[in-house]
This record gives sequence, structure tokens and C-alpha cells, in this order.
Amino acid sequence: MKIIAETHCHTIASSHAYSTVLENAQAAKQKGLSYLAITDHGVAMPDAPHIWHFSNLKTLPAEIDGVKILKGVEANILDTGGKLDLPDSLLRKLDWVIASFHEPTFPPSTVKDHTEAYLRIAENPYVDCIGHAGDERFRFELDPVIRAFKEHHKIVEINAHSFSARRGAKENCRRIAEACKRYEVPVVLSSDAHFAYEIGFIENSVNLLKEIDFPQELILNGDEEQFQAFLAYKRREKMK
Ligand SMILES: [Zn+2]
Ligand SMILES: [Zn+2]
Repeated sequence: MKIIAETHCHTIASSHAYSTVLENAQAAKQKGLSYLAITDHGVAMPDAPHIWHFSNLKTLPAEIDGVKILKGVEANILDTGGKLDLPDSLLRKLDWVIASFHEPTFPPSTVKDHTEAYLRIAENPYVDCIGHAGDERFRFELDPVIRAFKEHHKIVEINAHSFSARRGAKENCRRIAEACKRYEVPVVLSSDAHFAYEIGFIENSVNLLKEIDFPQELILNGDEEQFQAFLAYKRREKMK
């Protein structure tokens, strides 16, 4: 299992991360990746960049050192209505939008509340990917949510960083990955890098998927053509 795109990384624009766009792009090149998504935190997080960071992402070149740069965000889910912390007018212009629960911007609540929020997020056409859903503090009803992700073409992230950073994440990620296999929902494997050396390091996620015999064709960032086709499809949808 190998990947062609790193779909989740932070730069010094989120102050708890320590590398620049350029350093992350160089690391992606060294790892042989074709794509790098820059996904700093949406504005509601305490360490987030100012909203101008997102409105000015067009300043970044489309490609650095042969690595295609996807201008993105890790947006914060703010309430059970699925509200995110960037306006739609900005989200629709981004190449890669991850929606995540983070404790500072959504205090962990009940399974019912998390489920409700995910069902609304599934319906949001500007969201591409669901970030680190294996977080123990944000448990949700697996089957209805994964089915909704399938229906609305959402990609589920298997976040390698979660295994060390989030308690109970491995077991939850396994259950989520099994549900994705069951309902044929594509996943991406990502590092959630906070330093350039972590770019493309997804061993934990690969091992988990191997353990459950996860189908290669459902790994969206495992195949360049498949990944490109998804981006093109979403670009069309967002412009509707
Ligand atoms: Zn996150
Ligand atoms: Zn992150």
C-alpha cells in the first residue's frame, strides 16, 4: 500500500505546528508524493490563522518542486447543525476541505449529538473529507453516519497521527474502516503532520487496513487517476 497524496498537514500558520509550506512540499517530494494538501485549522481554533490565510491561499503556486499543492483547511465542526468555521463563499474555493471535531470548538457531547452533526456535515457539498473520526471523545452511530458519507460522496480519513495522539483511536478507527469496507466508502490515509519529517508517514494506518484486508481500490489517495477524478468531480459540484 502506498499513497500518492498527503491529504492532511499543518504549517506554522497553525502555531502548534513547526514547518513551512515549502518545507512540507520538499518533504512530500522526498517521499515521492504527487500531491500535498495544506490544511491548517479553521479560524475557531485557539491556534488558528486569521481568515485572510484562507482567502489568500491563491498566492501559493499550484505546484512546488513537482508536487501539486491543494489549498485546503481543517475546518471545525461547531454545532449539531454541522456549522463550520469558514463561510461557504470561502469553502467552495478550496481544493480540499476536511471537517473535524476538536474539543476546544465542540465540547464532546453525546453519541446522539455527534451523530446529528456528522449527518449534517455529510450533506454539506463543500466538505470533501471527514477528519480523524476515530476520536474516542466523539463517538457516533457508525452505520447511519457511514451510509450518509457514502450517499454524499464524503471521504473518510484514517489518520495515522490519531493512534498516538488520541486515546482509544485504534479500535475506533478499525470499526470505522470496517464500516467503510462494508458500505464501500473511500478512505484517505494521512499523517496529520505537524512537522515536515512526518509528511507521508502513514504506517499505522496501513497496518490497520492490512489487518482488516481493506480493498486497495477504496484507498482514494492510493491511486493518482482516482484521486484526480475525485478532485475534478468535487470542483464541479462546488461550483453548482
Ligand atoms: Zn484535527
Ligand atoms: Zn490536523
